[in-house]
Amino acid sequence: MKRPSLTYKKPKTLLNKGSGFLEGYSHTLNPYAGCAFGCSYCYVRGMPVSLFREDAWGSWVDVKTEAASVLRKELARAKAKGPVTIFMSSSTDPYQPAEYKEGITRSLLEVMADDPPDFLLLQTRSPLVTRDIDLLQRLGERVRVSMTVETDREDVRKAFSPAAPPIPARLRALRLLADAGVPAQAAVAPMLPSSGSFPETLRSVVGRVCIDDYYRGDGSGGRRSGRLGLEAIYERLGEKDWYSREAFSKQYDSFTRVFPEGSVLASQEGFLP
Ligand code: SF4
Repeated sequence: MKRPSLTYKKPKTLLNKGSGFLEGYSHTLNPYAGCAFGCSYCYVRGMPVSLFREDAWGSWVDVKTEAASVLRKELARAKAKGPVTIFMSSSTDPYQPAEYKEGITRSLLEVMADDPPDFLLLQTRSPLVTRDIDLLQRLGERVRVSMTVETDREDVRKAFSPAAPPIPARLRALRLLADAGVPAQAAVAPMLPSSGSFPETLRSVVGRVCIDDYYRGDGSGGRRSGRLGLEAIYERLGEKDWYSREAFSKQYDSFTRVFPEGSVLASQEGFLP
């Protein structure tokens, strides 16, 4: 797999106003621009941040240098104005491979551990999040890690997001977070074709799950995702039945049969603070 090209840029600001699907948050926070995981279904592909670049989505990453000092000031100002709830991240993965060396996300967590927001949702699909368990523990109940686990099938994961971490590593990460007492959920989002035992597999590592699909979760009733040509991947896998609005309720019901009442959330409600 080709490494993405990294560019280093000092941002003027880091906190953006939560809007649309994330309007339940006062702010969103992206430690990087661009994302080396390059998932086929990533709706950011169709957004200006991607469209105005010559290089393909997944092949470039902007590293936000000196991010901690920018956030420290912004966070203090935002907290003085009212409750601060942060979604990290909305258009990148905060634990993509560059984070191993750059540590931007960790530096932002250090700021937030010292001066906690009211709530932080940490959205990732990388087991690297477990490196920061010490900081997450300091945030206590003010943080929830949301680990994307779209499927339990590695063949499906490889077809849709070959550069993303393997599913077993994500499940191990969820178990480690639970053992460390860090609040966490699995985000089956977007739900992809999976085996019949997927709910039991997740139930063994996490107590809360959020299920989403393209029609509810892409902010455009599925139109944005429709433009990404995903249907061909479903066809190749022989799983076209899963590319429909009806698939959601079947998957949702299969999880409610295994998880306790109230712990299976649908779409936007599962990502609220
Ligand atoms: S990890 Fe998230 S931001 Fe990165 S490419 Fe995949 S869907 Fe997009």
